[in-house]
Amino acid sequence: MVPRSEPPESDGGTMIEPEREKHSLLLDELTTFQVRELIVGGWHDVIVPLGATEQHGPALPLLVDNEHGLQTAIRAARLLGKTLVGPVVTLGYSQEHTAFAGTVSVSKATLAGMLHDIAESHARTGFRMVYFWIAHGGNHAVLQDILPQLELKWPGCYVTGLRDLAGYVSTTWNRIPVEKGIPLSISGSHAGEFETSMMLAARPDLVRMDSAEAGNVAPFDAIVEKVMQEGIDRVSPNGVLGDQRAGDARRGEFYLNTLAEYLVNEVKQARERVAQRSR
Ligand SMILES: [Zn+2]
Repeated sequence: MVPRSEPPESDGGTMIEPEREKHSLLLDELTTFQVRELIVGGWHDVIVPLGATEQHGPALPLLVDNEHGLQTAIRAARLLGKTLVGPVVTLGYSQEHTAFAGTVSVSKATLAGMLHDIAESHARTGFRMVYFWIAHGGNHAVLQDILPQLELKWPGCYVTGLRDLAGYVSTTWNRIPVEKGIPLSISGSHAGEFETSMMLAARPDLVRMDSAEAGNVAPFDAIVEKVMQEGIDRVSPNGVLGDQRAGDARRGEFYLNTLAEYLVNEVKQARERVAQRSR
């Protein structure tokens, strides 16, 4: 195991420090020698968050999906053990957001090519499982299309990811805010209370709550077709589906942890499939 620098002296208080990793869980914060040593030591799995660089209304930065993808993956990796994260794929298929300044969208073909090449790189490094974690819904169709080609392409490395997006959304994004007393019209499907809360928990320095606004609060099912075909600007001039003003950091922390728990389960199931293959 790699050595770590000692933590700073405590001030003599009685607070017990939580057990910390001996190194970063982020692949790209490690040296190549650390990565190799970890893989030899049984760190066989890598979670790759698939984010986006796209508008998230007046209160939130463009990197929202990258940030909650990263935060949930780190939390999951910590719970799973022997799992690394990243690098986050910060560009995704965001066609429905391109009317808004700053949005950077790649084509489906480009994204599919990136997924292939990322998986190949991790397989070559020696990871035995690559799990692509959907942090931006627009990436899901591309992942679904390409997974059958990638799944067993590299002997010794199983490539998988979030398949059941509808199941994931219905048991997390569309359930936990309601349990916390926030109607779905407010928590929203894009840049609403849900994402604002997660950002207030993870990166409050990047949230402009004094600019927070409500957007279109219609049920997503009622507008999704128009959003995907004509762009989100056609149903919401400020780019929000939901209400940013209801954002709350404590709820955001709960949301991040709940999404991470879902991811933990996903990776455990994938590990089971890997184990079955090698039996
Ligand atoms: Zn988002």
